[in-house]
Amino acid sequence: SPDVNAPAVQVSHRHIQGEYDNRRALSELTERADVVTYELEQIPLEGMQWVAENAYLAPNIHALDVSQDRVKEKAFLNSNGVPTTAWKECRNVADVETALSEFACDSILKVAFGGYDGKGQAKILRDAGASDIAEIWDRLSHGQEMVTILEATVDFDCEISVVVARDKAGNVVPYDPVRNHHENHILATTIVPAGIDPAIGEKAQTLAKTVASALEYVGVMCLEMFVTTDGELLANEIAPRPHNSGHWTLDACFTDQFEQHIRAIAGWNLGNGERHCDVIMENLIGDEINKTNDLIADGSVSLHLYGKVDIKPGRKMGHFNRIIK
Ligand code: AMP
Repeated sequence: SPDVNAPAVQVSHRHIQGEYDNRRALSELTERADVVTYELEQIPLEGMQWVAENAYLAPNIHALDVSQDRVKEKAFLNSNGVPTTAWKECRNVADVETALSEFACDSILKVAFGGYDGKGQAKILRDAGASDIAEIWDRLSHGQEMVTILEATVDFDCEISVVVARDKAGNVVPYDPVRNHHENHILATTIVPAGIDPAIGEKAQTLAKTVASALEYVGVMCLEMFVTTDGELLANEIAPRPHNSGHWTLDACFTDQFEQHIRAIAGWNLGNGERHCDVIMENLIGDEINKTNDLIADGSVSLHLYGKVDIKPGRKMGHFNRIIK
């Protein structure tokens, strides 16, 4: 990490300071480490490619490559039989116009690389004209070349996700499906159990397992999905890491997602991921961190603070798990 105050630095035995593609820092890392893993996907692929050639990298480089690029991600999902909303790669305004008229519904334009928490995306109304689209394109591209996808807006009942762990031998253990609520495109709350039809829940777990196996994944990953108003499941995104919608496992499962990840990449057996209580996870975003004193007073709450120094609007500062029973 380039940042001496990064949350992980505060709990690590050693910090190698450098940008994620700094060859000297990466080379020190590969010399020292038996296993290299990553916990964010917005890191330069070339640097990690070099790491993969010089050390054991888990999850593998393919998983990082696919989940960094929305075009590759959607194509990968569909080619493995995992349904998504209708989407089209768009490299200019004319491509967007063509895709929009094909979908014939309100749509969402997303940058292929680097978007997260609603950043790098914009709604395009069904009847938008070329000049409306050009304005949105310029806003997202800042005048640079840009690859995007246009997605048909999903009419969804709820958003769910499944976190799964896969070990080196190919065993895959899913956690329970969970229901996610977003506010301003940022995950606000995760509710477990999800309160969905059990058949849909099982299918969601199967889809997440399918993705993990198809990627030959080792570690913990998350598949985010929509449950449509017609009861269909559509995959939205792959997160190649322990995920915010899996933070509830810290207090409600025998083995949480972080331990499960370490077990998988270290070549150990996976632990028991069963849930032993109902739970609601709430993120502390921006100045919600100031609620800490009230939360400490509540005995049904388990508080997790990340030690981030600056409070900024939209920044995830911590979360708490409220144990229900
Ligand atoms: P993403 O960055 O793709 O995870 O999108 C962030 C959030 O925007 C999702 O969690 C949804 O709430 C919403 N969203 C993204 N894509 C779609 C879509 N195709 N249809 C409806 N809502 C969407």
